[in-house]
Amino acid sequence: MTRILENFIDGRFVSGSALEHRDVRNPANGALLAQMPLSTAAGVEEALAAARRAQPAWEALPAIQRAGYLRRIAGLIRDNAGPLAETITREQGKVLALAQVEVAFTADYMDYMAEWARRIEGEVIPSDRVGESIFLMRRAIGVTAGILPWNFPFFLIARKMAPALVTGNTIVVKPSEETPINAFDFARLVQQAELPAGVFNLVGGDGATAGASLAASRQVNLVSFTGSVATGKRIMAAAAPNLTRVNLELGGKAPAIVTANADLDLAAKAICDSRVINTGQVCNCAERVYVARAVATEFTEKVAARMAEVRYGDPIADPSVHMGPLVNRQGLDKVAGMVERARAEGAEVLMGGSVAPTEQGFHYLPTVLFDCRHDMEVMRAEIFGPVLPIQVVDGLDEAIALSNDSDYGLTSSIFSRDLAEVMQACNGLKFGETYVNREHFEAMQGFHAGRRHSGIGGADGKHGLLEYTETQVVYMQHG
Ligand code: NAD
Repeated sequence: MTRILENFIDGRFVSGSALEHRDVRNPANGALLAQMPLSTAAGVEEALAAARRAQPAWEALPAIQRAGYLRRIAGLIRDNAGPLAETITREQGKVLALAQVEVAFTADYMDYMAEWARRIEGEVIPSDRVGESIFLMRRAIGVTAGILPWNFPFFLIARKMAPALVTGNTIVVKPSEETPINAFDFARLVQQAELPAGVFNLVGGDGATAGASLAASRQVNLVSFTGSVATGKRIMAAAAPNLTRVNLELGGKAPAIVTANADLDLAAKAICDSRVINTGQVCNCAERVYVARAVATEFTEKVAARMAEVRYGDPIADPSVHMGPLVNRQGLDKVAGMVERARAEGAEVLMGGSVAPTEQGFHYLPTVLFDCRHDMEVMRAEIFGPVLPIQVVDGLDEAIALSNDSDYGLTSSIFSRDLAEVMQACNGLKFGETYVNREHFEAMQGFHAGRRHSGIGGADGKHGLLEYTETQVVYMQHG
């Protein structure tokens, strides 16, 4: 029987807040997995009202007690890790090994954010006046809204809710309509952990109704969004009339620079890994390569050899595959269209270059495009698929200039054994993150933040935690 998902509002699973449902299907074989509630604007407001009611008492709890709930949920995630990972694979299409990493990382992230409970510190500032003390306090913002994409759907719940809750906020989360099931499983664990009612709420729904209602609501004090640039702009516009704060984690077009002094085996492996993980559907994936002319042929042969080893398929039917399907038909058509246009514009298709010859699933062949030019769409727009475009450059200055000439500014990387080159790149690359001689993937204690159209604000670490607080300065005249 098809599972019917119900919104989680005020500590209970409820059905009245959504009048219609939408099918959720497995992208590897089309199987119907569940039906997701399509929340109405009124349903969203109901969830926000619950979050608003719960917030003062939640904020009044000592932070260490709030953290205790995060730890309890982390424990429940670990207890249920196997089925959770399988659900993620079934609805999103990533390989099981990566889904298992996502689940384990999510539990660790909850624990990590819980550790901050005793460190949400303010400041004591020297006064110019006699007998006065100045205190800067870190306060909760209030009610937050988390709007999520589908590519790391389970982890992104924690990336929003853990810093929000430990700092005294409450939250309403809206998962992507592509991957809601794991979020409803998360809500079940929240209920088992006996988190006070209304502190965490979950509403299913589409972007135009449920997402837009969250962004536009006067009840929301911070919208924390991860997703595409186009939606980020809509959310910012919807939030503007109420001057609601926004935290936007948007798309990327990460350059990987390979200099003549690079360890080419290491570079080829790291760049391939970064391109193939989650079938290329990661915001910080290496999305374009600038390789020095002197090593371009050797490097490209190594990359092509590695990409040729990548096996794809239904990750539940064959857990040994490296890559599952793209998330939906729209994603597959987008990737196929971009490669066709690159080919027409003169890119050389070294391998792949077409939809995979499978009967089921949205599979695209691992693809390497050589001799790309900076004006090609494939070098400028986010591909979000297993396609690696390579451009030959004449030196590091050119590579850095081309990297920076982009609307996107999330992640970047440099491969070189020359310290002077590495430092030149670190100083010259205008990106939120730069990886040196390694694959693109951030750590929870870092700060994941995009420049330009890649976003506003960031997540993770101390700086990500503080995004969920606002300051209050107290001037105390006591003498
Ligand atoms: P998307 O923008 O299509 O959708 C994301 C979410 O926004 C969904 O929940 C959707 O329902 C909702 N939404 C859609 N329209 C809305 C509206 N008008 N108002 C409010 N909400 C609305 O993105 P996606 O396809 O799910 O995810 C892929 C994108 O996410 C890629 O561009 C990727 O780079 C980006 N991403 C960024 C990061 C990061 O940390 N920077 C991480 C993961 C993914």
